[in-house]
Amino acid sequence: MSLEVPLSQQGRCAVHPDLPAGGTCSRCGSFFCADCATSVAGLGVRLYCTACAARPDVNYLEALRQRYWGKRDDWAWVVGGVTLLLCVATAAALAQWGLRATKSSLFTLLLLLPVPVGVAFFLGQRWARHAMLVTPLVMAMAADAMNRDGRFFYFLCAIPGVLTGLRIHRDVRNQLFFRLPVTPGALKFLWDQRFNNPMARQASRFGLSSVFMPLFAPIAVICGVVALTRVDLKATPPIGRRGQAIAGLALGLVSPLLWGFVVVPFLDRWISQWVYK
Ligand SMILES: [Zn+2]
Ligand SMILES: [Zn+2]
Repeated sequence: MSLEVPLSQQGRCAVHPDLPAGGTCSRCGSFFCADCATSVAGLGVRLYCTACAARPDVNYLEALRQRYWGKRDDWAWVVGGVTLLLCVATAAALAQWGLRATKSSLFTLLLLLPVPVGVAFFLGQRWARHAMLVTPLVMAMAADAMNRDGRFFYFLCAIPGVLTGLRIHRDVRNQLFFRLPVTPGALKFLWDQRFNNPMARQASRFGLSSVFMPLFAPIAVICGVVALTRVDLKATPPIGRRGQAIAGLALGLVSPLLWGFVVVPFLDRWISQWVYK
């Protein structure tokens, strides 16, 4: 008896019937050849046939990228809103005091300096991302040139502007608005933030709150239990955050005990000391 399988009965690639199969697709189970085997970012070592790998429910990171590609994010709207506010404030100030060559009206005009950058940012011009980082410093330098006494104060005011600019510059969602190439790792981070078992994050949030406000404890427990039942690392896309769900659940269970046995007796003793003496 021979163990050799006749060539006609061996698995064949569903797309290339002349090629032997190298494995089966993790989603539809059909045979694929070495050329057709496709790995998907964010799904580990699993392999898919070409058709399944292109599906948005499988290649969820690519679907996420397309969903946000060129679409304005919250930061774009914030920058647009601030720019509009600056225009209105400058117009109102000029209407009030008129345009004279006084120091205050020159200072007012300084507020218009970030407007072109803000408009370009809102419209998705890439240079505005970088210009935004230096705009607060340029404003501080211009203010310093007009009035030497306030140097320290101007640069102190510029620091939050630069820090916010850096934060926006690094924001993956904002980079997608500007149609910049984003690594699968960064997309995974964005997906984790927004779509990976949000209930687990609620559980940990309510769990922490329950330490200060025990009324939140039952909500933390419910969220934690629901989040735990949702965890499924084998799903596509994988649903994680088990640790966060457990932490929320544990905090929700422990904090009422903490209040019942430690905080309330302590407060009780403390208050009675002041009231009855
Ligand atoms: Zn398939
Ligand atoms: Zn093939």
